[in-house]
Amino acid sequence: MAAHKKEIAQIAVQTAKPTFANTIAALEKSGRLLDRVSRVLFNLAGTDTNEELQRIEREVVPPLAAHQTNIMLNAKLFRRVEDLYRRRSRLRLTDEQARVLELHHRWFVRAGAKLNRKAKARVAAINERLALLATQFAQNVLKDEQSWRLVLDGERDLAGLPPALRVSAARAAADMGLDGKHAITLSRSSVEPFLQFSARRDLREEAFNAWIKRGEMSDARDNRGIVAEVVRLRAELASLLGYESYAHYTLDDTMAKTPAAVQDLLAAVWPAAVRRAAEEREALARRARSEGGNFKIAAWDWRYFAEKERKALYDLDDAVTRPYFKLDNIIVAAFDTATRLFGIGFKERLDVPRYHPNVRIWEVTDKRGTHVGLFLGDYFARPSKRSGAWMSSFRSQSKVTGNVRPIIVNVMNFAQSAEGEPTLLSLDDARTLFHEFGHALHGLLSNVTYPSISGTSVARDFVELPSQLFEHWLMEPEVLKRFAVHHETGKPMPQKLLARIKKARNFNQGFATVEYAASALVDMELHATAANQDLDVNAFEHTTLKRLGMPSEIVMRHRIPHFLHIMGGYAAGYYSYLWSEVMDADAFAVFEETGDVFDRATARKLKKHIYAAGNARDPLEAYVAFRGRPPDVKGLLKKRGFSS
Ligand SMILES: [Zn+2]
Repeated sequence: MAAHKKEIAQIAVQTAKPTFANTIAALEKSGRLLDRVSRVLFNLAGTDTNEELQRIEREVVPPLAAHQTNIMLNAKLFRRVEDLYRRRSRLRLTDEQARVLELHHRWFVRAGAKLNRKAKARVAAINERLALLATQFAQNVLKDEQSWRLVLDGERDLAGLPPALRVSAARAAADMGLDGKHAITLSRSSVEPFLQFSARRDLREEAFNAWIKRGEMSDARDNRGIVAEVVRLRAELASLLGYESYAHYTLDDTMAKTPAAVQDLLAAVWPAAVRRAAEEREALARRARSEGGNFKIAAWDWRYFAEKERKALYDLDDAVTRPYFKLDNIIVAAFDTATRLFGIGFKERLDVPRYHPNVRIWEVTDKRGTHVGLFLGDYFARPSKRSGAWMSSFRSQSKVTGNVRPIIVNVMNFAQSAEGEPTLLSLDDARTLFHEFGHALHGLLSNVTYPSISGTSVARDFVELPSQLFEHWLMEPEVLKRFAVHHETGKPMPQKLLARIKKARNFNQGFATVEYAASALVDMELHATAANQDLDVNAFEHTTLKRLGMPSEIVMRHRIPHFLHIMGGYAAGYYSYLWSEVMDADAFAVFEETGDVFDRATARKLKKHIYAAGNARDPLEAYVAFRGRPPDVKGLLKKRGFSS
């Protein structure tokens, strides 16, 4: 921070007339050391944390936020940026430079550079407090996940559980020192399959209720107070900056632009999803009755009976598909897809240092064998890892200080198999792997000059396009036939099974959409309206969902007390996945229209305008450059099976 501060001071106080080089490029070159150190810290804090790292995190996060705020509120520095911005049409900048200048100016203004001294001081205080609260929030969720476990003792407790889940549950128990027993944890890869398969309704209820109570399990780490404070502070920040609400403020810097545009998209999907979910619930209730289940379907029953229904309708169950999705094969499938689309190759490197023995590292090269970057895969769940799946980077691509190549990581939480056994994935897991690898490609293929617009540094509702689009290739017969091979026999997935998977694609889509869209709607509501009340998080969540007509058997995918997205960068932004999905459905259709999902000309355009372009252009412009027109929502409704 001291080194960065010095660099910033030199840029700000110089007497030379502002130029792009001595101000904007200089800013882009500054802070390399801090960037390098922070990325290591935060990557480790997410993937392999401990008490000491958590303490350091809590200690450095507020000063880091203050450091950042000080730069953005530096009046001398902003005067230089403002001066350049006013003269931008006369500066003879490249398109990329013009974009970077415009963005810097926007970031300064949005951070409060135009405010008076008193307001600036308040903004600084708010940012610092928000950073600390977000850290505490995430640490509380992790602690809840680490401290809860359901120990299964004997065959009666294991009723219904398939072999793969028994193996990973035995492993989890062994890790806890409970040899010979089985343990279910609150990691999604553990609790979700348990809810799918456990025939013990009482245990399902117990596990489900713990899962949805993360963030409010104990007084010592109750996230509800944190959320109330965060929402209040964000509203105050937005108001200082002249916005109606925090949602208005945040969305101003996205493709969607306004809460109204987001509401429109969600409104186009919500009623159809709720209707579909009601039909699904009836089918599940019939299924339960046929097995003598004389009860109303509850939230902890949905996944269980959905699994049975899926099996009955499509003869498809997880135990049948899982042997075909060996982790190692799906990794290679993702690589191969990238090779065919973008001409890059992957070679595993055993000689490169890694932060945990389970991390695998590949060198990525282009057609000529030139180094493109490093790709790290950290696939298995462990107690020291935050739940979920994500892409991050230890270094992002740029050219302003020489040819800096990216170091990208994908982090997953797959349940590790027993020693010597291959790890087998569910179809959803395989999809997640492709999703995160799509983000990884966005980082690896980045080809821009300035680090601030590199790779995934794009509008939040654009950033899920490269990842969600990449998921489409997993389900292509050309890919499945080669890589979805049985882990024991080596035989490809039978044609009939492929067809059944395809047919089952929209199964339970009402549930999935409601679960997701409810979270997106509550997030938007929380940041658009909930500011000035003394927020009772549970009451707010309850009232909002009631007004929306939330089916009582479905719980939001992320309830507010553990909704990590909205504490991190996705506040008033959880809708982004759906926004990006409008584009990914619409974009994949371009490949389909050519009759070849690996069509070279289309792939070239996709690389140029989307995967390699970072934030070098306005996202809508970039999309239109690829597609030839703006995105159309019809593709999304069709993809989810809500229209014909
Ligand atoms: Zn994503």
